[in-house]
Amino acid sequence: MITVNEALALLETKVTPTLKVAQIGIEHALHHVLAENIESPISMPPFRQSAMDGYAVYFTGEKEFKLTGEVQAGDDKNPPLKPGEAVRIFTGAAVPDDANAVVMQEYVAHKGSIIHVEKEIALSQNIRETGEQIQKGSLALKAGTLLQPAALGYLASLGIDQIPVLVKPRIAIIVTGNELRSPGQELKRGEIYESNALMLKMALEKDGFTQVSIHRVEDSLESTIDVISNAMESHDVLLISGGISVGDYDYVEEALEENEVEEVFYKVKQKPGKPIYFGITEEQLVFALPGNPASALSCFYIYVLPALRKMSGYNSYHLERRLLISENDYPKKGDRAQFLKAYSTGSRVIILDGQASSMIHSFAVSNALVFIPAEVEEIKKGDKVQVVML
Ligand code: AMP
Ligand code: MG
Repeated sequence: MITVNEALALLETKVTPTLKVAQIGIEHALHHVLAENIESPISMPPFRQSAMDGYAVYFTGEKEFKLTGEVQAGDDKNPPLKPGEAVRIFTGAAVPDDANAVVMQEYVAHKGSIIHVEKEIALSQNIRETGEQIQKGSLALKAGTLLQPAALGYLASLGIDQIPVLVKPRIAIIVTGNELRSPGQELKRGEIYESNALMLKMALEKDGFTQVSIHRVEDSLESTIDVISNAMESHDVLLISGGISVGDYDYVEEALEENEVEEVFYKVKQKPGKPIYFGITEEQLVFALPGNPASALSCFYIYVLPALRKMSGYNSYHLERRLLISENDYPKKGDRAQFLKAYSTGSRVIILDGQASSMIHSFAVSNALVFIPAEVEEIKKGDKVQVVML
């Protein structure tokens, strides 16, 4: 059986970015990686802009100005000014070409159509120069940038509505298990509710993987082979839940073999999630996760999510790791590495009760996983532990 680090290293070498590029609407581009450098189609701001509500003045040393008009944000007028003249102006409005400073209204006293400025005036003050943020034709964002809300807001501010991105994978979640019923249905004896599909889909959506379809299959070899084969026709990633263990009705490994998936690893020396499987074809990544909900989700965060991010062109794709102080003792049983449901409060972390791989209630209130390497035997309160932030 391989170790956690060996499994991660195998993923590292086998998963490469799929460099397919598509032009997509900006409203769909969140969490995608920018495929090309973007040059700004405009200067920003596109005109000299007032940074304040106040008065645009033609200043040549005086303190008093004659008020001759007004420019509101959005107006296209450009009133001429003579030295000693001013116009009322508002934040975001175009500063007249003849004006050389904007005075904040808080520093101005009115006497009819004359304004008196009670503060020193500096040339160009409170004026955002044309192209101060970016000049037309210069580099706005580099290829490889991960598009988060601010980046998209920035591109929108430059008038861009179509964006070249690296395409994200189409993912099939395949759920095995005769005992599984959908929430909302009555349970008969022997049945439980199916929760992995929804959980994995939500975890995928949270990271911007939105092309996700869900398939259910009974525990039979034929059906499992068929469902996998069908899913392979139109997906880049298969995420299989359950049926990968050693039970008599666990058919996933055999069904993958029948579909000519090449095994990269099967079984990792860890708890939970020992029977995780990772394989590849020419075109797909295939993960088979143990069906126990906590195992499935741990494996998702540690292996699947980084792989999907790497595939999508992310430069940094692992979940953040921190060294935090444990708030409790934890005796580790056995010689496998462990991922423990935990809650981190700043510099400290609490290892939660309910670590069995069938238990999801502790996961439901956790925000981190404590990683205990195989060779560590116990954690004492006050020890520094490795934490994977969720
Ligand atoms: P398996 O990996 O198929 O042997 O399943 C291990 C355990 O997880 C069994 O108790 C299953 O009933 C449970 N399980 C499997 N798949 C799911 C699922 N999709 N939702 C909830 N529990 C599941
Ligand atoms: Mg099963």
